[in-house]
Amino acid sequence: MPKILLETEGLTVRYQGRTALDSVGLRVAEHETVCVLGPSGGGKSTLLRAVAGLTDLDAGTVRLAGRDQAGVPTHRREVGLMFQDHQLFPQRDVGGNIAFGLRMRRVPRAETGRRVAELLDLVGLPGAQRRAVDALSGGEQQRVALARALAPGPRLLMLDEPLGQLDRDLRERLVVELRQLFRRLGTTVLAVTHDQGEAFALADRVVVMREGRVAQTGTPVEVWRRPADAFVARFLGFRNLVRATVGADGTARTPWGPVPVPEGTPPGPCRLLVRPSGVRLTAPGADPAGPRATVGARTFRGDHVLLHLDPERGPALEAACPLRDAPAEGEAVGVAFDRADVVALPE
Ligand code: ADP
Repeated sequence: MPKILLETEGLTVRYQGRTALDSVGLRVAEHETVCVLGPSGGGKSTLLRAVAGLTDLDAGTVRLAGRDQAGVPTHRREVGLMFQDHQLFPQRDVGGNIAFGLRMRRVPRAETGRRVAELLDLVGLPGAQRRAVDALSGGEQQRVALARALAPGPRLLMLDEPLGQLDRDLRERLVVELRQLFRRLGTTVLAVTHDQGEAFALADRVVVMREGRVAQTGTPVEVWRRPADAFVARFLGFRNLVRATVGADGTARTPWGPVPVPEGTPPGPCRLLVRPSGVRLTAPGADPAGPRATVGARTFRGDHVLLHLDPERGPALEAACPLRDAPAEGEAVGVAFDRADVVALPE
């Protein structure tokens, strides 16, 4: 069993009687990157603040390396924090920003200099010590903020929407770099983000939060393949979700008509999720069980097209279709469902 670095139990925080965190239990193993994901207002930042000791707890415990942190002030918790807006000191240069935490700990000057140079190499800004922070691009500022958070060698690095303000292209590149960096350093990371792409790219494990509670925990693949419920599925961007009843014959009755379900799906009422890759287009009427549909909007996604279908019965359907086979808007198609891409979620 990997060693647990962070463990929270029954973590509860209320603001003016309103519950922001509701009995959250969370474990982060050493060297693990855990991303907390969820819609805005779900309690993600409050969770980070509670772990850092920046927010009073109404109930519950935070343990770091087995030690209860009650009464331990933030600067003694050995956690590094990096927030969305970076909060770099504009009057200090890059080196001064990174050295800040080391000076606070009275690290000798020569050692501080060495460490700053090392960190700048690490984040891909070698020799940038004397540059002014307000002359840096958003991506460079983000790297400096990361170097500053890493400088004191925190046991746990906590990131709050670390790439939130950067444009998509840069974010996608940085997220890969971050992951490689954390792997190499063996950093233990707790990050929060509302961006599922970011969370899934960065995390060993994701924790989906809703209204102050943990809705699901798992590896990215586990959560992606089997969302715990309709809320998580919707949050991940799945739209083909309906109430259905699974029969004993391996088929669910749905508003779209019969949909085959994977073997072993328990019979009874459920929420049925059909991934867009499980909505196959056929010639109209080729599969008499599947509905006919009209092709609505098309969204181009690089190697495939996401089609918005208006079926003759049931709600709109999203279908993923290879680029070369994509029908035109307004075209009539038939629909068949692939059982491998159907998931029965609890009611
Ligand atoms: P997230 O990070 O997921 O967006 P937050 O942790 O910021 O969520 O907020 C959770 C809930 O707590 C929200 O309803 C928010 O309005 C409320 N909240 C957060 N901080 C405060 C505060 N300082 N005072 C009062 N309410 C707050």
